[in-house]
Amino acid sequence: MKSNINFYKGMLLLVMLSLSISMFGQAKPKVLILATGGTIAGAAKSGVQSGYTSGQVTIDAMVNAVPDALKLADIKGEQIANVGSQDMSFEIMMKVANRINELASSKDVDGFVITHGTDTMEETAYFLNLVVKTDKPVVLVGSMRPSTAISADGPLNLYNAIAVAADPNAKGHGVLLVMNDWIHSAQSLTKVSTTAVQTFMSPIRGLIGTTAYGVNDFYHYPDQKFGKTSEFDVKGVTSFPRVDIIYADADMKPDLIDASIEKGAKGIVIAGVGNGNMNKASLDACARASKKGIIVVRSTRVATGIVGRNVECNDDELGLIASYGLNPQKARILLTVALLKPRKLDELQKIFLEY
Ligand code: ASP
Repeated sequence: MKSNINFYKGMLLLVMLSLSISMFGQAKPKVLILATGGTIAGAAKSGVQSGYTSGQVTIDAMVNAVPDALKLADIKGEQIANVGSQDMSFEIMMKVANRINELASSKDVDGFVITHGTDTMEETAYFLNLVVKTDKPVVLVGSMRPSTAISADGPLNLYNAIAVAADPNAKGHGVLLVMNDWIHSAQSLTKVSTTAVQTFMSPIRGLIGTTAYGVNDFYHYPDQKFGKTSEFDVKGVTSFPRVDIIYADADMKPDLIDASIEKGAKGIVIAGVGNGNMNKASLDACARASKKGIIVVRSTRVATGIVGRNVECNDDELGLIASYGLNPQKARILLTVALLKPRKLDELQKIFLEY
């Protein structure tokens, strides 16, 4: 008898809940914006000058510039930093990562947006892709024009980023970047223009999807490891090993490699010519570094393409790692995180294949 009453009570509650949803509309997704600065928060004295200062506008002012976004989601903002991303640091990246991980299973957040400068957006996006443990959408967004410019691109980019972060279909794609109607994966994207609004491209692996005025289409899931399948955990980490990037060119001088070792680098990424190449003297310096236990990764200064193992030099003999699809700045992030614990060369090479 009592269980019957409970059953009817439960049914009544369900009916009331569905009535209130149809009367007041569905509950909106909850999006948390973590603001770090960049041109999207930048300001200049006039609408047509190229000089401006990044990180001037607060997150509240940015959200106020896109009132339509309030129809897409319940939005809250937190100011994590307000810097041009040329000043991005592991310290700020960790603040963002820790905040996302803290809220990963909270019912108060369905998706995250991170406002960020475009200069080092690929580093932060890729770092977060490795270390945040959630399937909820995590979407980076920036702009190429400051908020005061004619045809500022920030407001629509922010609107679209909020639309992606609020979209359940965006779940499980790893960390994304939304700019100029395109949805990129942190793994594949790279900045290709110093000033054009279409500055991000995803060569090789292609776009994850597109977005237009908040209508999103997703084409595929990233095939590399990220988020919950990533083995990297940075909980409680307060400092990272030094990893330097050294740029190769014709007649490259090997002493930079030796200098880097002297300065305490635990890893070196070579932005090699072509397929991760460098001259003989530099290869010898890399082999010397490897013998001392410093991990040397061969990446490339070329905009697209894979750096393969044992192609024009003998990685096995020299003790080097090939970066495969990662450009130097992302190879540096992966190596930095991977070197938080000691690992053998073959394990590191596998990591570069999988991430
Ligand atoms: N220097 C700026 C930054 O990265 C450029 C931008 O946001 O587009 O913060």
